[in-house]
Amino acid sequence: MVDAFGTDLGAILTRVSISADRMAPLVSLPISTGLPVRHAAAAPRRALCVAPRMAFRDDKPMGEGKSNGYAKLPKDVEFSPIRESQVSRAMTSRYFSDLDEFAECDVVITGAGPAGLACAYELTKRPDIKVALIEQNVAPGGGAWLGGQLFSAMVVRKPAHQFLDELEIPYEDEGNYVVVKHAALATSTLLSKVLQAPNVKLFNATAVEDLIVKEDDTGSKYVAGVVTNWTLVALNHSTQSCMDPNVVEAKVVVSSTGHDGPMGASGVKRLERLGLVPACPGMYALDMNSAEDRIVSNTREIVPGIVLCGMEVSEVDGAPRMGPTFGAMFVSGQKAAQIVVDKLDGQVAGAKKAQEKAMAA
Ligand SMILES: Cc1cc2nc3c(=O)[nH]c(=O)nc-3n(C[C@H](O)[C@H](O)[C@H](O)COP(=O)(O)OP(=O)(O)OC[C@H]3O[C@@H](n4cnc5c(N)ncnc54)[C@H](O)[C@@H]3O)c2cc1C
Repeated sequence: MVDAFGTDLGAILTRVSISADRMAPLVSLPISTGLPVRHAAAAPRRALCVAPRMAFRDDKPMGEGKSNGYAKLPKDVEFSPIRESQVSRAMTSRYFSDLDEFAECDVVITGAGPAGLACAYELTKRPDIKVALIEQNVAPGGGAWLGGQLFSAMVVRKPAHQFLDELEIPYEDEGNYVVVKHAALATSTLLSKVLQAPNVKLFNATAVEDLIVKEDDTGSKYVAGVVTNWTLVALNHSTQSCMDPNVVEAKVVVSSTGHDGPMGASGVKRLERLGLVPACPGMYALDMNSAEDRIVSNTREIVPGIVLCGMEVSEVDGAPRMGPTFGAMFVSGQKAAQIVVDKLDGQVAGAKKAQEKAMAA
């Protein structure tokens, strides 16, 4: 079996010891079919998992021949052949397909810090809800890669340790609080669960520059989505002209952009400029005991269509900064997800009721 580029797929199959039926999904990929890009994007991605990424000269797929838990690495590794254009298409076809699919979604979460990630994680439990997670940084995770003052350990006050339990993140129990040995362990675990979910798409290196605001039949304003741009473009508006943004429509926006900073609290700052919330006092001086409870209790839909969670809540309410303790971020994200689910389910129920009424009339 020879593909469009003259690659002997049969020989590769033999080398990596994959049976013909397991290979079936792979041959439907653009490698051999030459399908147009659009079809390529629709090819089942799971198929990519069946073929080990590389074969060794000793004819064993990676992972075979392990001893004592260590991979027995051969002297030479021979990677399966690929064309440069295949690499390019593998990325771009999927990305543009995602942009197309997520131009309209149920929920946009702005900011992938601990609050936004916890919200996204909760929404993975509802696979029928389509979620775009937008993060201006290349690396998602916000301020949760480290503890305070750039130390490693992450302190989580009870009862937020239940979230860690659910994610199977180990910690030391200190009574009223628990300590994860490195904040990066908590964040990477949370991130990996979110990224594996089929209903969530992370668009990183993408900044939310503005909100879409509309008026309903009664003249009340509501948020209907976000305005985005590549972060590198957003940072260069003053040096170039005509760098128009993109848009994502959503039934609900969750703003979890953190406390004020170069891009932080961008959701509430925009709402303030639009006159949709009163002047933001900014976060108050630190008091861990009151800060965490207040952030969770004030997590809410602040303007129809936009829910605030995480440290952004303290910006609009003048609530105390909490410092390097992260429990409230997780629980606030969970609460935001609950508000979102109730709202979306309420909309569905309302639409059904209206339809039934119209049918009966
Ligand atoms: C160095 C450091 C300083 C800290 N300072 C404080 C403090 O002063 N007070 C305090 O209470 N806690 C502080 N913390 C603790 C903790 O980091 C934060 O409170 C916690 O991370 C906030 O979580 P969050 O999810 O609300 O926001 P963050 O962790 O800040 O996450 C917000 C995310 O949103 C993204 N984002 C922001 N704007 C946009 C946009 N327009 N478009 C797309 N993405 C966007 C950011 O890049 C970020 O990833 C600090 C931690 C560290 C490591």
